[in-house]
Amino acid sequence: MMSETYALALHGGAGPKAGEDYRIVEEHLGELAVRGEEMLENGDTALDVVAKLIAELEASGLYVAGKGSAPNIDGQVELDASIMQGHTRQAGAVAALKNAVHPIYVAKAVLQKSPCVMLTADGADKFASSEGLEMVDDPKNYYVLPVGVTQQDIEQYEMMHGTVGAVILDCHGNLAAGTSTGGVFGKPAGRVGDTPMIGIGTWADDQIAISCTGTGEFFIRAGGALTTVNGYELSGDTLEEALWRMLDEVERLGGNGGLIAVTNKGEIAMAYNSDGMKRASVSNTSEVMATTFAPCR
Ligand code: ASP
Repeated sequence: MMSETYALALHGGAGPKAGEDYRIVEEHLGELAVRGEEMLENGDTALDVVAKLIAELEASGLYVAGKGSAPNIDGQVELDASIMQGHTRQAGAVAALKNAVHPIYVAKAVLQKSPCVMLTADGADKFASSEGLEMVDDPKNYYVLPVGVTQQDIEQYEMMHGTVGAVILDCHGNLAAGTSTGGVFGKPAGRVGDTPMIGIGTWADDQIAISCTGTGEFFIRAGGALTTVNGYELSGDTLEEALWRMLDEVERLGGNGGLIAVTNKGEIAMAYNSDGMKRASVSNTSEVMATTFAPCR
């Protein structure tokens, strides 16, 4: 039987610069929240809605993911993504994928069709092609700079970052989370951040779903999503406290970023310690909201 309780949160990365205008992005995130809400009310699963919304974010070219990805210092785009379904604990991830239009669909195919959890580099591209997933024919003419990023920024800002993610509780009581990124600008070839790491950039179990964004190296060293899970599920933290437990550790180590979470009770929390985090949310008890710089603490 379907419940009336659902909750959805999206992020478009925690790399925005103070003073930039992100209204076009906020509008896009708000529209996707509405579409996601419709799908959930129709009974679609958290896993399917997470993948669908992230695929839209990837295709838009507005974020550092999919079409808007950051090239590495050799000028090549390498993409990372992961997805996890809470109640089955199934997970799929890809790292340093080169030519797939929708890294999140490749990660979902890994979750559904492969005995592995993560595929990397040429093996991930080969798997994507063999699954008949859409590939980029002409990378030079496909990738674009996302909103708020100029060529000059890329030269000036080392490890400037952005990512997309979604966390969802569906009307069947199930949770899922997904994250997709083109990584950080100025990264060396082969660099992989937190995004494709299950338990770090993405996590879902039967109590909580989490998607992270920020300087991946620091999220990995802070224990990422699982530090929040441990706070919430084992140490008695409130949801907000659990998010800040991990984020404060990221900050102590010298990094910044943010994360979004939903629980099996339909609670939503979002936190960031960077200048802003592009984000949107909606649930059966809260209206659609989309913002970048509204304070969260
Ligand atoms: N976490 C991503 C990475 O390090 C970047 C981001 O979220 O902005 O690859």
